[in-house]
Amino acid sequence: MRAIRRFTVRTVLPEPLADLDELAHNLRWSWHPGTRAVFEGLDAALWEEVGGDPVALLGALGRERLDELAADEEQVARVRAAAADLRAYREQPRWYQRQSADALPASIAYFSPEFGVAATLPQYSGGLGVLAGDHLKAASDLGVPVVGVGLLYRAGYFRQALDRSGRQTETYPVLDPDGLPLTLLRETDGAPAQVQLALPGGRTLHAQVWVAQVGRVPLLLLDSDVPANDDAARAVTDRLYGGAGTHRLEQELLLGVGGVRALRTHARLTDGPAPDVFHTNEGHAGFLGVERVRELVVDGTSFATALELVRATTVFTTHTPVPAGIDRFERRTVEQYLQALDETRTLPLEDVLALGTEDHEGGDPRLFNMAVMGLRLAGRANGVSRLHGRVSREMFAGLWPGFDPQEVPIGSITNGVHAPTWVAPELAALAAHRMSAQDLATGAGWEAGGTVGDTELWQLRRRLRTRLVTDVRRRLRASWLRRGALPADLRWTDDAFSPDVLTIGFARRVPTYKRLTLMLADPERFAALLLDADRPVQVVVAGKAHPADEPGKRLIAELVAFADQHHVRHRIAFLPDYDMRMAATLYPGCDVWLNNPLRPLEACGTSGMKVALNGGLNLSVLDGWWDEWHDEDNGWVIPTADGVDDAGARDAAEAAALYDVLEQQVVPTFYDRDAEDVPRRWIAMVRHTLATLGPKVQATRMVADYVAHLYVPAAASGAALGADGLTGAAALADWRERVRAAWPRVRVDHVDSGGVATSPQVGDTLHVQAWVALGDLSPDDVEVQVLHGPVAPDDEIAEFRVTALRLDDSLEADRYGYSGDVALTAPGPFGYTVRVVPRHAALTSVAAAGLVTTAP
Ligand SMILES: *Cc1c(COP(=O)(O)O)cnc(C)c1O
Repeated sequence: MRAIRRFTVRTVLPEPLADLDELAHNLRWSWHPGTRAVFEGLDAALWEEVGGDPVALLGALGRERLDELAADEEQVARVRAAAADLRAYREQPRWYQRQSADALPASIAYFSPEFGVAATLPQYSGGLGVLAGDHLKAASDLGVPVVGVGLLYRAGYFRQALDRSGRQTETYPVLDPDGLPLTLLRETDGAPAQVQLALPGGRTLHAQVWVAQVGRVPLLLLDSDVPANDDAARAVTDRLYGGAGTHRLEQELLLGVGGVRALRTHARLTDGPAPDVFHTNEGHAGFLGVERVRELVVDGTSFATALELVRATTVFTTHTPVPAGIDRFERRTVEQYLQALDETRTLPLEDVLALGTEDHEGGDPRLFNMAVMGLRLAGRANGVSRLHGRVSREMFAGLWPGFDPQEVPIGSITNGVHAPTWVAPELAALAAHRMSAQDLATGAGWEAGGTVGDTELWQLRRRLRTRLVTDVRRRLRASWLRRGALPADLRWTDDAFSPDVLTIGFARRVPTYKRLTLMLADPERFAALLLDADRPVQVVVAGKAHPADEPGKRLIAELVAFADQHHVRHRIAFLPDYDMRMAATLYPGCDVWLNNPLRPLEACGTSGMKVALNGGLNLSVLDGWWDEWHDEDNGWVIPTADGVDDAGARDAAEAAALYDVLEQQVVPTFYDRDAEDVPRRWIAMVRHTLATLGPKVQATRMVADYVAHLYVPAAASGAALGADGLTGAAALADWRERVRAAWPRVRVDHVDSGGVATSPQVGDTLHVQAWVALGDLSPDDVEVQVLHGPVAPDDEIAEFRVTALRLDDSLEADRYGYSGDVALTAPGPFGYTVRVVPRHAALTSVAAAGLVTTAP
């Protein structure tokens, strides 16, 4: 039977409290303790009951109570002060308004299939969504004019519970948008604004647009559950990652194409600027580029010119180091959808399809690949940690034949997390009271000898651990009750876990590569760690397996089976339904955050950063961000058996290494106390973590990096190509076409070298001369380069440097002469080669034109 239609009636607030509506509907409350205190102050018991959800609180406050509060001058004054503070936050200039780049974008659209802004808006499954939420919040704090674009899933991601046997069960409670911190985007006549997409078979997909206000940043969420739709179309936004095949494709078309249309509508209705830059968080929203091209083509621009402008102003962030993690659709199916979408038949369909077709070596030309399209439509692309950048360049190298992975145009910006969201309020308040803004920003305030003493810091860490222990007991009990246990049999949960025991956390989604059960590899050795009489360890585990991921679900069942055992159940627990609310208590309460993915499959990982911001120490394999920022004093490295092909042997070796580090380093350091029962060495590591990782792991650092390295350059490219009716874009398109046509006749005819003796030595200079035939091209169109560097045992130059050669006057027949010098700076085998690549000021990388000719 079809679910009943339900809605929530919004409270009408008495005039003196009218500001509460804005305070509840701007998600800044989720990272602003002052605003939360105002809500709590209205009715502390009710606030607790509604789980700290302002919209629910306002709905639950009765008329009588509201009238009472409206008559209370102190309450009214607090509400008005909070609203004034929010308005000042929204309107006053911030970091971005002090930037002085020429091409500072007026608006940046940020697309993501999921957003984790707050637990009360459950539109995320894990790291990708929470990162997107943190991106918006940090952009808001910095004043960066971002507009978020996503989908509103009527059931969000699933809710997880355990059955009696310890297997994950899933439920999909339907959300009521009127009970969420959302406002419907409306036309000036009050009717809901709608976007439409034409679908195959003459159908139309309609969607309305909800706006979640994230501080200064609006987040547009498209929702297909509207009466104008047929049942299938209504279900397009039913669940996050719920479907496959055409359901998934329709979601992605709505996100990308519908998202651009929603942005246009929003800009029209709010009189806002059109975005100068479009950023897609993962490939799912990639169709946004197709829609932008279509807009331009319908307006009379050529496809090639439109593509230049769109590419120049699109940023693509990849998060997936495994090909299996990428969305691929039947090319035929995509063709049908694109054909339907292009109602006026103005797009060259084959050219559009070519953007995502796997026509590269190793690809399957029957498939349309969202990452391939993402990269071909984005002039700038990045991975999310230094290591992941490198892995991505190798993974996608096939798309740039002739270029070495080191030149694949994918850079990296290491993720960050939003401190005001993730730092425990006590810790944030202590720092804010004791440290100057400068010491807080640089982290110096946490150094030894600062204003916070060892004992005080240790006591605060214990308070945070105690709060976690209380939460673990409550959740354990609730989970067991759900699994059918009787309350009388659950007294043990009252003193399960301890506020004084070394606490390790492990919580994240449960794809198999994250190896949830690595810690169980030697159950006896692990149990001995948990049960040590003097120096015990306790472990909190949580995470959801994707509903279709049977191996992941088996891992959960295995972990639960271990944790269920009588003799260890007070020291290890699996807590069901991991979400941002659980995370907010878990991260600050853990002493150690365990991370043991199969290297290098963790693109970045962000939960360990959130733990570090609270003074927790990381214990992790050298993957993602930890590969880049670990040092001797901010945690521990689990050595990995990279290159061991036998998965079982590799797991066993890495698990043994994990136990070794725990037994020999982590546990002794934690329990090594002085006369005052303070672990001085541990506290020194906590301080070092707060002082040195604190400033680096922040989302404000990340967003500032995006602004400097991607958004501003993309806006500058867009301005250069878009001026005077797209003159620059048209010229670039013509140039590209001309160079492509002429390239087959480009060749390096002859290379000579001199300047080095028979036995060259460091300090010598190699003089290189090359004669190059350019066919119909002119020297202005190309650059001639020497690639040089040390030769590895496999006869390749692994890490080469590039030196451009000068054009000499010596034009000989149809050949141009080039020359230049290369200094020999290191001893050992040395090699070089000469190549020709296209050159144009608007190209974003040497590989961007996809053309290269190397000396034979
Ligand atoms: C931060 C966070 C994640 C991401 O964790 P990773 O370490 O990146 O896997 C997942 N879920 C929640 C609720 C989070 O807050």
